[in-house]
Amino acid sequence: MIIKKFCAENFRNIKKCEIDFREGINILIGDNAQGKTNTAEGIYIFSRGRSQRTSDDDELIKFGEEGFRISVEYEDKNGTNTLEYARFGKDKRRKKNGYSVNKITEFVGNLRAVLFTPDDLSLVKGGPEERRSFLNIAISQHDPSYINLYSSYKKALENRNHILKQASKGFYYDENELRSWSNSLAEYASYIYLQRYSYIEKLKKYTSLIMKDISEEKEEINIEYISDIEEFCEKRELIKKKYEEIFSSSEEREKAAGLTLFGPHRDDIKIEINGSLARSYSSQGQQRSVVLSMKLSEGEIIKEKIGEYPIYIFDDVLSELDEGRQRYVLSGREGMQLIITACKMSDIISEGVNIIKVEGGFYN
Ligand code: ATP
Ligand code: MG
Repeated sequence: MIIKKFCAENFRNIKKCEIDFREGINILIGDNAQGKTNTAEGIYIFSRGRSQRTSDDDELIKFGEEGFRISVEYEDKNGTNTLEYARFGKDKRRKKNGYSVNKITEFVGNLRAVLFTPDDLSLVKGGPEERRSFLNIAISQHDPSYINLYSSYKKALENRNHILKQASKGFYYDENELRSWSNSLAEYASYIYLQRYSYIEKLKKYTSLIMKDISEEKEEINIEYISDIEEFCEKRELIKKKYEEIFSSSEEREKAAGLTLFGPHRDDIKIEINGSLARSYSSQGQQRSVVLSMKLSEGEIIKEKIGEYPIYIFDDVLSELDEGRQRYVLSGREGMQLIITACKMSDIISEGVNIIKVEGGFYN
């Protein structure tokens, strides 16, 4: 999959732009605060359906303007397509090939992209919520129906927590209502568990191969899904039963705490390098290798599913990688498009790359 053109109008600091991209390596180059990350954000919106930096679209409108419009022209195995995303006042518009797309689940899943930013380095050192967020976003890209599933889970969780909070304060609450939300929560949790389990199984297969390649066979990575389900079982009804048991046996504790203490919102991914927990023992270089291998694996899983590589957007991370890893990234693969942002040219970037200069939101 390849992006051919990205256009923006009144988006962040960009007044108006039209950027042509090519297959292979594209580098957006410019000083700090010129609009490189803004461009990466604009492109990634088409993949995720919303900005990765903010949930408030108003922030995306250029200061002093009424609205913004961004569009992308991309080529996949079915041909050339366009996607458009615009916001004017309260009016939000999403279009594919000129036709309105109302549901976010129909918008996500067209243009596939993997984004890697310096923030992602917290995947290793950060808390479990960083790793859950990685999983949620990666699975949504893989299967957009996960977006609705996870938001249903969160709604049920909110409702259940509300009742538990009432209980913890000694206020009246409806016991039947609590049971009913526990039941819904167990239902959604079972689907989420199975999706996450199978995603991590795929992920670990690729990360271990890529990690070996990056480290010239020196490092071995192991990734495990950490959840409340002790033993994997592929029968969803049984997983649901297990969650029901967990929720009912912890009910008294949860009534005291005023919130749900178990479930997928507490899951984590355990990452080990050469047998030691990466979060506690990995060097900075190893952390970068782990994240790089996870991001590249995310792309391999997309390729496994749709038969072509997603677009890789590397915002400001090239300078974080040593020469060997930079070479590994830049060597690319057949049919792979990379969009990289950087303040200065890397010494190892060879000829034939598409260099796009960014200055004050303008391109040349
Ligand atoms: P760096 O190399 O430091 O990462 P960058 O080129 O990636 O820089 P961006 O994050 O793209 O920089 O931001 C460029 C500028 O856009 C910033 O100065 C920021 O204040 C500005 N900006 C952000 N949002 C808006 C907006 N809604 N309207 C106008 N300008 C904005
Ligand atoms: Mg930036």
